[in-house]
Amino acid sequence: MSSVTEVNTTEYEADYDVVIVGAGFSGLYQLHRLRDELGLSVKLIEKADDVGGTWYWNQYPGAQCDSESHIYCYSFNEDILEEWQWSERYPSQPEVLEYLRFVTDRLDLRENIEFDTAVTGASFDETGSQWTISTDDGSEISSQFFVTAVGCLSEPWVPDFNKRDSFEGESYHTGRWPHDGVEFTDKRIAVIGTGASGIQVIPEVAKEDIEHLTVFQRTPNYAVPARDRPLDDGDWSEIQDNYDRILRNAHESGFGMPFETAYPTAEDLSMEEVREILEPRWQEGGFRFMLTFEDLIINPETNEKVSEFVREQIRETVDDSEMAEKLVPKGHYYATKRPPLHTNYYQTFNEDQVSLVDVTETPIERMITSGIQTTDAIHEFDMIIYATGFDAMTGTLLNMDIQGRNGLTLEEKWEDGPQTYLGLSAHGFPNMFTVTGPQSPSVLSNMPVSIEQHVEWISDAIGHFVDNDISAVEPRKEAEEAWTAHNTEVAEQTLYPTADSWYMNENIEDKPTVFTPYIGGVDVYHQTIQEVAEKEYEGFDLTESITDLDPRGDRPALS
Ligand code: FAD
Ligand code: NAP
Repeated sequence: MSSVTEVNTTEYEADYDVVIVGAGFSGLYQLHRLRDELGLSVKLIEKADDVGGTWYWNQYPGAQCDSESHIYCYSFNEDILEEWQWSERYPSQPEVLEYLRFVTDRLDLRENIEFDTAVTGASFDETGSQWTISTDDGSEISSQFFVTAVGCLSEPWVPDFNKRDSFEGESYHTGRWPHDGVEFTDKRIAVIGTGASGIQVIPEVAKEDIEHLTVFQRTPNYAVPARDRPLDDGDWSEIQDNYDRILRNAHESGFGMPFETAYPTAEDLSMEEVREILEPRWQEGGFRFMLTFEDLIINPETNEKVSEFVREQIRETVDDSEMAEKLVPKGHYYATKRPPLHTNYYQTFNEDQVSLVDVTETPIERMITSGIQTTDAIHEFDMIIYATGFDAMTGTLLNMDIQGRNGLTLEEKWEDGPQTYLGLSAHGFPNMFTVTGPQSPSVLSNMPVSIEQHVEWISDAIGHFVDNDISAVEPRKEAEEAWTAHNTEVAEQTLYPTADSWYMNENIEDKPTVFTPYIGGVDVYHQTIQEVAEKEYEGFDLTESITDLDPRGDRPALS
């Protein structure tokens, strides 16, 4: 049970009940829920000049969802579900952005969003049990609750290549792509990175009228065909007829996707039998392929057979056998690094104007004014595209200089890796909640499902605290330690920790090696957080307010 203590808080009025940071999928729904369902005064701060988050920033050619469109959406509003019709099996970046703008306008959210403003600091003031939030325009505002919805993959990462800034041509990161487009014609282009972003941008750049494309690959990936196609009215009416069931199944599944795993294991199957099972799923494309065998991620024998099947497909697709061998992943199990989908990725390497540099054989030594110098050659370019990923899970949070009780910074607290209670909150940081924080299923799921779970839990919790005059809420240290230990324990039962992935923070040298998302499953996780709420927020200390302040009243807006 949680404990309730009376403390002598000074009567204190914050500017807002809640300040939210980030206007992506998470922040937009969080704003709607707190403002429109609880009637709280809420301000949302967003550094971009529009809504969209991921889909605002990642406007690179080929940017597209790997989640199927009919499940990559909000499920909380029936009118929106009925009014919006997706045009493709997987929505492309412009369509997701259009969708988020549509939802924003439909729910009239813009008036509570301050755009073009970055949060640069947030500190908890114990006297008033409230947060002071500083922004890059020099302003400060206060709120009783502080909700970070800053995204798990929103801080682009560029490796610190030797003399990185000496290149004099154009440089772009996929996660900060210029909104007015980029001209590729007649250019010599480098793409560094073959994760999900690289795998999408490479075929699109290769299609352009370029002089040459050179791909710099460190780790080959297991990419499965997406097999995108338009959705016609017939597809759509079938989805609409079954939408309740589909969405319920997604919310009750392990990965936030409504697909059943078909077989318990491949352990006792011959490779021939495995091929027979996987072939139709390969033809169907998408994440259903990954969900063929239930023990894929815990059983090395099953995983090796599935991995081998993918390797066979790559060898069959790429004409040049030497090139094919470079593209075949060998050093990690399938899906232990985020498994991308692709459209013509491997086929691209059959084009004359595309070449591949394996940087494990010939590492990048330095950037030079005209290009990239590897250990065996100088490669000259007009443009370098960094598809090198993100300071994932914690990077964006830590950039905000968050200070909890007694001046403890989140950076100090997480020096050896994130420690949270339920991936939602942290001891020492009262009244602060994080949507899809580290140690929650987040990136190991179809994210709108996890986002809705978190937003709804946070809203219910804040509503409960406000209704019960609870001014400060903080997870107990023991609860946090138990959750952190549980995270590690569950991860260690899987193959995930065997790969050098960004799930393990391995993409960035200075980060502690630790598995950051929660792999216990979206369904199990949801049940856990619901039980915590039902048991009066078990694991949290709740501090009762003595003030008669009505936290739902109108608050003056701070300019
Ligand atoms: P974001 O969309 O990242 O939004 C966070 C917002 O916070 C941003 O607008 C950012 O500008 C703002 N912000 C950050 N810091 C500050 C600050 N200090 N001050 C003010 N504002 C700040 N997930 C899936 O489930 N399926 C997919 O197929 C899929 N495809 C993806 C494709 C790409 C290219 C990428 C990068 C990610 C993909 N994801 C996918 C994950 C995706 O990030 C989530 O699905 C979802 O969009 C996250 O929404 P969010 O609101 O939590 O975070
Ligand atoms: P990523 O998965 O981290 O891939 C980064 C790539 O850059 C990797 O190939 C990495 O190699 C390489 N790299 C990093 N440092 C390097 C160095 N010093 N030298 C050479 N190569 C280097 O990043 P991402 O592709 O942007 O994807 C991040 C996540 O965003 C995805 O996993 C996914 O969750 C999401 N995303 C989703 C979609 C989608 O759903 N459609 C699309 C894009 C992104 P190593 O593997 O060796 O580290």
